[in-house]
Amino acid sequence: MPIRVLEDDVIARIAAGEVVERPASVVRELVDNALDAGASRINIRVEAGGRRLVEVADDGHGIPAADLELAFQRHATSKLWSVDDLDRIQTLGFRGEALASIAAVSRLRIRSRFRDEQTGNTLLLEDGEIVERASIGSPPGTSVTVENLFHNVPARQKFLSSPLAEKRQITLLLSRYALVQPQVRFTLTLDDRESFRSSGNGVLADSLVSILGRDVARDMLRVGPHIGIEDAIRVCGFVSSPALHRSDRSRILLFVNGRHVQDASLAYAVIQAYHTLLMKGRFPVAVLMISLPPEQVDVNVHPAKAEVRFQRPREVFSALLRAVRATLMEAGGSRSGPGRNALSPKVPVEDSFAGIWQESQTIARKPLFADEQATVSAATGSPAAPQRPRSLPMLRVIGQIGASFIVAEGPAGMYLIDQHAAHERILYEEFLDRQEREETMSQFTLVGETLELPASDASLIASSQEQLRAIGLELEPFGPNTFLIRSIPAMLADQEPREVLRGVLEELERGQQPGKSTLEQRLIRRVCKQAAVKAGTVLGREEMQGLVRQLERTRSPLTCPHGRPTLLHMSAGQLAREFGRH
Ligand code: ADP
Ligand code: MG
Repeated sequence: MPIRVLEDDVIARIAAGEVVERPASVVRELVDNALDAGASRINIRVEAGGRRLVEVADDGHGIPAADLELAFQRHATSKLWSVDDLDRIQTLGFRGEALASIAAVSRLRIRSRFRDEQTGNTLLLEDGEIVERASIGSPPGTSVTVENLFHNVPARQKFLSSPLAEKRQITLLLSRYALVQPQVRFTLTLDDRESFRSSGNGVLADSLVSILGRDVARDMLRVGPHIGIEDAIRVCGFVSSPALHRSDRSRILLFVNGRHVQDASLAYAVIQAYHTLLMKGRFPVAVLMISLPPEQVDVNVHPAKAEVRFQRPREVFSALLRAVRATLMEAGGSRSGPGRNALSPKVPVEDSFAGIWQESQTIARKPLFADEQATVSAATGSPAAPQRPRSLPMLRVIGQIGASFIVAEGPAGMYLIDQHAAHERILYEEFLDRQEREETMSQFTLVGETLELPASDASLIASSQEQLRAIGLELEPFGPNTFLIRSIPAMLADQEPREVLRGVLEELERGQQPGKSTLEQRLIRRVCKQAAVKAGTVLGREEMQGLVRQLERTRSPLTCPHGRPTLLHMSAGQLAREFGRH
């Protein structure tokens, strides 16, 4: 279709709003255009988080010379003619606003050669005005280079997030495109470094590996294609096995007719499918493509096109729920296979009785705690810290319940101690003490293990090196998205470095939140949680006594670092009353 300006009645019905609010939205609009032009290769370059430069080059069909200027007029589009077309949009763009809006707030150079023409053309626009036009030799396709974004909108500049945050946003955006368009080869270059590349071989599973990382991808189950009752709704993609889960729903990625959408209700359908398979507060990882006839979806409800409306939302919901549930049931429906995952911290403990049983059989009998010795971390063999004043009375260990709770007696009655929470408390205070004494927190790993991470995680790590070093985790860049683990926190020496990192990444992802405790404190708590003895670990009497001795000398023995109780106390008087003998 040639480009033309939309009639007023069409314009009036297009969801109004700012198309470009941040550099990432410029990337989104330009990539959408490239995809609509049928590109098979799209190269994206970004400098200074997009404020200095955003460039998107594609090998799509290009723009006819006669249409090039028109493309920059507001509401000029080749993708839509009449109001009726709005009901069956098959392209990503349709409003004819993006190029005009971007050009208005930047210096923009476009080069394009239409596939049926011999030469290409270029335009240079400054603040929306054409200042240069020329014919050029170029291969078929289009490239748009946007410089000095928002330079003439000081108000907007003030509200832009940091270049780092923007980079992360752009990386996430690109990884979503790579998932939904596995047949397109995307490369993303951030500040002259290639940060992401998809193979473009059309295999979703390959994109999945490059985006989620090999480790996560391995735990994903293939969904569908499932065809809904209506026949018209199809669901396919990948979801995590119940052994893999996250602390929030940000890894539930949903696409409707090739468009990434944020839809709380659809995400809920996915979560529902895991009912009874995941612990409360844990969420699956999912990449799911839903397709249905375009006239059953309204994509024109949100300025950034991030939301859609369905003609029959309940049917879509149930098609999605069924497809995911069916996959989980086929995969066994069990929480985790025996062995590998049964003992790892990502498996909710209460339900993994098999795991508890196994653990009590096979656990390495290295004493975890030594009695009457203030050595806290068995792994480090560090010298005993100076004794701290006692904060609890001396307790005598009686035994263990459910391989999780220690029963002890003190002068004031009975104590029930949560071994995991208590150990977290002990480790946490020891960590803080060491930090205060400026002792080294880290331990070099014997073999320099390397770790390949998804691009978004890699950029997160790269930008948080300092905080990580403060807790003893040193990662050295080692090729694209790959790190060499130089050291890990000493108290985690006997844990899987990957597991350690996974926990740390979850914390980093949440980022700095105003009014909340600092990132570093949260990282420390996280590390302690991972290092602490798990519920379900059978402890010997000496080990229990050792743990209790240490707890008695912590500053705040009654709660774990996350604020949950470490012990329940029942006085002799209470016991007597309970037995009706007051
Ligand atoms: P929309 O995508 O909503 O139509 P845009 O302002 O993004 O509006 O683009 C205007 C028009 O310019 C498009 O309809 C299309 O015809 C043309 N165009 C923009 N980018 C490209 C591209 N990369 N390749 C081919 N045509 C393009
Ligand atoms: Mg567009």
